[in-house]
Amino acid sequence: MTIPADHPRKRSLEERHKMEQAFLKGIVAATGMIAHGRGEALDYFLGEKTSAQAKVQIEAAAAKLILAKWPVISVNGNATALCAREITELAKAADAKIEVNLFYRTPQRISLIEKEFAKLGAKILGTNPAKKIPGLNSKRGLADKNGIWKADVVLVMLEDGDRTGALRKAGKFVIAIDLNPISRTAKKANITIVDNITRCIPLLAEKVNGLKGKKIAQLQKILSEYNNKKMLRKSEMRIRKGVRERGA
Ligand code: ATP
Repeated sequence: MTIPADHPRKRSLEERHKMEQAFLKGIVAATGMIAHGRGEALDYFLGEKTSAQAKVQIEAAAAKLILAKWPVISVNGNATALCAREITELAKAADAKIEVNLFYRTPQRISLIEKEFAKLGAKILGTNPAKKIPGLNSKRGLADKNGIWKADVVLVMLEDGDRTGALRKAGKFVIAIDLNPISRTAKKANITIVDNITRCIPLLAEKVNGLKGKKIAQLQKILSEYNNKKMLRKSEMRIRKGVRERGA
């Protein structure tokens, strides 16, 4: 597929192509394609740009990742298809583990995702999980004893509200990336970044690297001044503004 360089939606069309390829390979589940479409619609109203609100959310998330003792990035098929390389870079910057967690978990999909990260030199956890997060019936509850089970901070993306809620109940601090500021995940997470994972993960890695040398008190100040509920309202207003602008 060749997309003209000046196509206004070049980036989102490239993402569609990646998703299609990953779906055909078996990395992405059919429902993952639907979730992607929902995200794409919201991103359209954001003008496919990282908003000023998302930048504040990213800064708070970066501060928390630096302060974390055992941070873990939870990945699924969509995340792997769209930004395995960027997630690997973020994991390096934040000294975090990467753990695979799938709703439609099959040994074949797990192995395909494991290989995608192995190609980038990353060894992922969750391929043979022995623990279970309470309150989740599906295989989504499975957790690696050296990964999410042990984590104090978990970064999730394209997540559903049930798992986010269960992780919170298990005492985890949850950072979510979700283009929908009114989803259950967005509301249940401690910090929600309302942005496309393909844009905000590199920005998050950059911010982690930028804040790493700062004093603990300074990082704690960023977090104490951060209010997720307020920021979600602002993100929602930004999307509503995008709807009006697009319709004008
Ligand atoms: P919840 O249970 O939290 O209300 P849901 O069931 O509505 O979530 P899912 O389809 O499970 O939603 O999760 C997908 C979420 O991820 C959606 O809110 C969608 O907007 C968002 N999303 C899809 N693609 C991306 C992306 N590339 N970057 C960030 N978020 C995305």
